[in-house]
Amino acid sequence: MAKKKDKLHFTTKTIHVGNKIDETGAAVTPIHFTSTFRQPTFNSNSEYVYSRVGSPTLAALEENLAMLENAHHAFAFSSGMAAMTAIFMMFKPGDHVLISRNVYGGVFRLVTKVLNDNKVDFEFIDTTNLETLSESIRDNTKLIHLETPSNPLLELADIEQVSNIAQKHNILVSVDNTFMGSYGQRPLDLGADIVMHSTTKFLSGHSDVLSGALMVNNDDAAEKISLIQNTGGALPSPFDAWLLLRSVKTLSVRVEKQFKNAEIIAKWLDSNSRVTKVIYPGLQSHKQFDLATKQHYSPDGDPVYGSMISFELDSSIKLDNFAKNLSIITLAESLGGVKSLISCPYSMTHASVPHQEKTELGITPNLLRFSVGIEHVDDLISELDYAMNHN
Ligand SMILES: *Cc1c(COP(=O)(O)O)cnc(C)c1O
Repeated sequence: MAKKKDKLHFTTKTIHVGNKIDETGAAVTPIHFTSTFRQPTFNSNSEYVYSRVGSPTLAALEENLAMLENAHHAFAFSSGMAAMTAIFMMFKPGDHVLISRNVYGGVFRLVTKVLNDNKVDFEFIDTTNLETLSESIRDNTKLIHLETPSNPLLELADIEQVSNIAQKHNILVSVDNTFMGSYGQRPLDLGADIVMHSTTKFLSGHSDVLSGALMVNNDDAAEKISLIQNTGGALPSPFDAWLLLRSVKTLSVRVEKQFKNAEIIAKWLDSNSRVTKVIYPGLQSHKQFDLATKQHYSPDGDPVYGSMISFELDSSIKLDNFAKNLSIITLAESLGGVKSLISCPYSMTHASVPHQEKTELGITPNLLRFSVGIEHVDDLISELDYAMNHN
């Protein structure tokens, strides 16, 4: 007898949930390229009316996205930042919002340069410290936004503990889950209310789609986000929605390979005398190794540690020469794809942060952030080795 869909394993569901076979029998969910839908009468109540408000390709994708995080609701957006904007649009003047201090640069910019005049009181705090977090809560605190693991230092916030604290004060918790992806961490299962993804990263996985998502378990928040989504209209196109739906089918196999490659590379870097620091949640030397082991697990329950590694090269290595010797490892921002990417946070993603602040945080000029892909691990290691030693 066929199992009910919700009893199936995660990997099976990534391929089947939302991917309905229509009356034509097409094995793959078709793309509906249309902006509007014919209505049977002037006052009908059709499921689809106008594509900003809903379309079959988007509905298929959102059903699939909700499944990834065991969510009641999911909303697709045209980028991770559009999804993030929708979260902050829920709040009104006088509300107080706590945010992890090491958030993604775009989120920092959104808050300090775009939303700063809207009279919502945003405060950046160290969310890895539960005491600081508890002390920062006020009567008007409405949201705690976590980013864990953080970029590029891979600091973790304890989602379960933060959610317990927030619940007592009736505060929503949102988590930017971009760095682990849904395979490696599912914050709603740990008590969060909203999960945000830059689906540009692991969920799309091929560095070819810009898109975002919110998965939501709080019904009031879902209602607000739905209105913001279909009124603001920052939606992925039907083609991008379809590409994403296709990409998620291989999420498990892609990230299992990426995570495995990253574990091997992190150990190799750790034993390399030309590398002065390795930050990877799967190394015992990571300050929060125990929390990583508790919080990051695959849908089958196995501990996983992600495919993001930050490491610092010996100061005798010239970064420009190192970069010139890379060929399969691409020098680029972004992460989470099948193709390995490397970046220098100091001069790239964090260029606008003052030197003093970066140094205090540990973002030094020779710190590199490596997003490990699915190439053969021996090829990745030999390229790193070559680049370090031909300098
Ligand atoms: C990339 C990224 C974002 C922004 O997403 P876009 O799809 O680029 O808009 C937000 N948070 C994190 C952690 C990211 O890596």
